[in-house]
Amino acid sequence: MTKPIVRFAPSPTGNLHVGNVRTALINWLFAAGQGGTFILRIDDTDLERSTAEYEQGIKDDLTWLGLTWGDTFKQSERFEMYDAAVDKLRDMGLLYACYETADELDRQRKLQRARGKPPIYNRAGLNLTDEEKAAYEAEGRKPHWRFKLSGERVVWNDLVRGEQAIETSSLSDPVLIRADGSYLYTLPSCVDDIDAGITHVVRGEDHVTNSGAQIEIFKALGGTAPDMAHTPLLVGADGASLSKRLGSLGMGELRSQGIEPLAICSHLAKLGTSDNVEIRDSLAQLAEEFDFGKIGRAPARFDEVDLASLNAAITHSMSFSDAEPRLAALDPLAANEAFWLLVRENCQTVEDAARFIPVAFGDIDPIIEDEDRDFISQAASLLPEGDMTAETWGAWTSALKSETGRKGKGLFMPLRKALTGMERGPSVGDMLVLMGRDRALARLG
Ligand code: GLU
Repeated sequence: MTKPIVRFAPSPTGNLHVGNVRTALINWLFAAGQGGTFILRIDDTDLERSTAEYEQGIKDDLTWLGLTWGDTFKQSERFEMYDAAVDKLRDMGLLYACYETADELDRQRKLQRARGKPPIYNRAGLNLTDEEKAAYEAEGRKPHWRFKLSGERVVWNDLVRGEQAIETSSLSDPVLIRADGSYLYTLPSCVDDIDAGITHVVRGEDHVTNSGAQIEIFKALGGTAPDMAHTPLLVGADGASLSKRLGSLGMGELRSQGIEPLAICSHLAKLGTSDNVEIRDSLAQLAEEFDFGKIGRAPARFDEVDLASLNAAITHSMSFSDAEPRLAALDPLAANEAFWLLVRENCQTVEDAARFIPVAFGDIDPIIEDEDRDFISQAASLLPEGDMTAETWGAWTSALKSETGRKGKGLFMPLRKALTGMERGPSVGDMLVLMGRDRALARLG
């Protein structure tokens, strides 16, 4: 197989959320697994709604996720190419001017529905004489332009959905250019895909119908249509649409919750596939395991609980060097290897380590139950002199055991609560080394 060239084509009219990141990821993994190329195309033909900030945000998020691109370009810089394609289609008689207003089209559709007919555009534009067109123009109307579909059946072998057939006779001829002269995404996308030599168009299944028209446009422009893969939509864990929640599932939001890029990528790569949703070491490993054949047809369930547990798994084994900058951002004292290696197993996110910073390096409220007061004073008097080391805890607690007769939970829990102010957490003996003798003594009252 020749090396694939794929593209992720977001519109810079908003931030990336888990839904479009999944499309980016699947493209990226497929390309990486086959030694191919991943292109980032910015679909900014809608000049009103597209912003440079969103474009930069998309690039920053992809970079953060590790989804780097081999090339990137913007549609807004390529209008000449689209204009040339328009001329070509017009010369071939495949692009025609229409003068209906949105209201008129709406009325037409309502009428068709009322008569029990499918609301397909009636192609009135195709039969207009030059005089009729001139009359519309004289009224001040500007044409919008439609692509003339063949009316035939378009068939392709979708890499996810299997054989697909779209009867173009059941579709309205798609509008390629609006009355204000702006391009809809349909034509520029084909022009760019041909120009960039895209081998596979990989996108959400909401584009299946577009593919019927686009395959005809590819052919009309003299290209062969790329292979196609349409992935099922992402839904919530309960099966409900994510559309209303996507705002809170943006990369910025997940990042600020301390979610790791690899947790997001592992989850998004595996959900809705025949592989288990488990953490992977790297994008390279995910790429190696990627196969369109593993993607099921049912909607893929995005589950925040699963994401959190993948994230915890990454956090539990994260190296100090990876965690260090973020620990330092919490508190310069927390950028301490022994501290990180001690607390990481108790953290769901790196930022969770914040809970233990006062325990190791600051002040806490010790918890001492009334019935433990005497025991805790004895503990204070038996605390070994000198630096707290890896041996201190063992020596101290055996001395306390013989002195008081306490053992097990009765021995350890009061010490944990007094020294850390918590009932659960990392090893108290190791924490003792970090907090030091003075802090320990102060906590023991
Ligand atoms: N800009 C289009 C979208 O975000 C791209 C679709 C495609 O991949 O062709 O829906």
